[in-house]
Amino acid sequence: MKFHIKTLFPQNNEAYMSESIMKKAEEKGNIEYKTWNIRDYSESKHKKVDDYPYGGGAGMVMTPQPIVSCYNAVVDDLDASLKQEKKPKVVYLTPKGKVFNNDMAISLAKEESLILLCGHYEGVDQRVIDLIVDEEISIGDYVLTGGELPALILIDSISRHVKGVLGHEESLEEESFTNGLLEYPHYTRPEVFMEKEVPKVLLSGHHKNIESWRKLESIKLTMKLRPDLFDYEALSKEDKKLLKKHNIIDK
Ligand code: SAM
Repeated sequence: MKFHIKTLFPQNNEAYMSESIMKKAEEKGNIEYKTWNIRDYSESKHKKVDDYPYGGGAGMVMTPQPIVSCYNAVVDDLDASLKQEKKPKVVYLTPKGKVFNNDMAISLAKEESLILLCGHYEGVDQRVIDLIVDEEISIGDYVLTGGELPALILIDSISRHVKGVLGHEESLEEESFTNGLLEYPHYTRPEVFMEKEVPKVLLSGHHKNIESWRKLESIKLTMKLRPDLFDYEALSKEDKKLLKKHNIIDK
């Protein structure tokens, strides 16, 4: 999968993408990314990329010409097959967008490539959105100074669902949000730390009991921390029995 990041601040991405799992994923060829500096495509004399808002008001607005010219350059750079058949989806990162979640990450991981447009200042001229943007995505109900961190957040969480990136895909199956539940707690060595012990069942080697304990903890944690996610009806028969047995919910 290939990510094209369109930004006014290309160096922001490099530090994150050049370490740890993202770096390995790129080295293994599971993901590719290319950063495009929107300013390089400005046709104005001083490479201007922003201007005052029509109608007045605070802040500057990113002008449409450099962003659309940069988009055309990305498309020109695509493999011939992609250019004609399936142009990459353009995602504009914006606090006004649909709030990003795990299901969206899984679905976007099926794309061959994505163009991520990072805004700055007050954001982009509306005509950019009307002309080239397919999806507007927010990473949460707060406002950041630019779309670079949101773009990296999307790249990271989408990449985890690209085959080969994690190398142990089964760990995704139990992860938080996968079944509408938060993940169970983890423990590692030592067995006792500051008088706090690892739950005995995890040391028992009894796989079925460990599985039940983890499922129960996962459900309890979701009910406590994210009651908005918890859906009793969506649980399996076995899970409902487990809750009844432990007097969590007696239906
Ligand atoms: N004036 C805009 C508004 O009130 O909706 C906020 C613009 S913000 C200061 C500048 C840029 O940061 C946006 O164009 C967007 O690309 C990015 N940004 C800020 N918060 C974001 C969020 N929660 N999710 C995604 N992108 C965000």
